[in-house]
Amino acid sequence: MLACVRVLAAEDVPIAVAAGRVLASDAIAVTDLPPFPSSAMDGFAVRAADTPGSLRVVGHSAAGRPERRTLAAGEAVEISTGAVVPEGADAVVPVERTSGAVEVEEVAPGENVRPRGGDVFAGAIVVAAGTRLGPPQVGALAAAGIAGVRCARRPRVAVLATGSELRAPGSPLAPGEIYESNSVLIAAQLAQENAEVELLPVVGDDAPALRAALERALRCDVVITSGGVSVGPHDLVRGTLAELGAVEVFWRVAVKPGKPVAFSVHGETLVFGLPGNPVSSLVGFELFVRPALRALQGARAPGPLYLRGRLARSVRRNAQRDELVRARRRGEVLEPLDGQDSHMIVRAASADALVLVARGDGELAAGAAVAYLPI
Ligand code: AMP
Ligand code: MG
Repeated sequence: MLACVRVLAAEDVPIAVAAGRVLASDAIAVTDLPPFPSSAMDGFAVRAADTPGSLRVVGHSAAGRPERRTLAAGEAVEISTGAVVPEGADAVVPVERTSGAVEVEEVAPGENVRPRGGDVFAGAIVVAAGTRLGPPQVGALAAAGIAGVRCARRPRVAVLATGSELRAPGSPLAPGEIYESNSVLIAAQLAQENAEVELLPVVGDDAPALRAALERALRCDVVITSGGVSVGPHDLVRGTLAELGAVEVFWRVAVKPGKPVAFSVHGETLVFGLPGNPVSSLVGFELFVRPALRALQGARAPGPLYLRGRLARSVRRNAQRDELVRARRRGEVLEPLDGQDSHMIVRAASADALVLVARGDGELAAGAAVAYLPI
């Protein structure tokens, strides 16, 4: 699947709205940081060689208002945190280590002085291409004087739920109907990946309507359908996609839940057919769609990004399929929840982890080391 991904074109993004985006090129520091030797403390800038001793206060250096004179022997400049350490001074005596006017304790050269460029030098990489920007990264960009960055553009993603039984919540259910939940679930997952979401109206299991909706959806970078990819007579999604010229890359995976997942490409558009059962949809997105969206944006590590934990109790393995078991996490301990059926989205809603139980015989013992995806 990842081999089918072509990274989206880059665009300029102001840093104020760059959190969550993936850097398309290295972000380079505009300035040394700190831009000048700066005081780490409130106190007195001194020549370390003059300490301990009694010094003459000849000026004041405040943050943003530097003292411009050069310090001579026996002199001190009152200084605040973040202020420029004046020429001639090589240390700061914290105010707590002074008395009178002005008796200072001994300090070593460089003590309490933050050297120019100690964090980063102008021209050096602040954040590397392929990194997803989180809060510390956008803070670092700003501090290094970077106002905007290059990021892959946001992927346009069409979401199309299919099924004649589906009704929007808020309207009454007729016999045999259920509430449609996958499109809001998928849209919420997409919101975490910078997607521009086009939520299409739900279509019934009707070939012409499905075809019309898919034709429209295929104009996006990614299409996510829900339902209709299994083996029943009303599962029309794969056939309709094939008629429209999509090339299927795979169909069905050895994963529980989510076995009927289908993946095809139509030109440069990636098409994910997620199964209708809501937990299958959730799991299929985490395993396939989320990494694809990250890869589309040029992420170096598109995932899925598993963490390490331990099982609170034993879990029976599935012989044929890797299973993603909904679990609640306490520290590194994962408690599998009751109600693991793929339609049980309300049970799944109290999980915060999908524990990977690799296919095999017998069971994984309580305390076994496992990988999990946070959700
Ligand atoms: P399907 O994959 O179309 O065979 O659907 C499998 C199961 O998921 C059926 O019980 C459907 O009623 C249910 N289902 C399909 N789509 C949705 C949806 N969008 N929201 C909630 N349940 C769905
Ligand atoms: Mg269906």
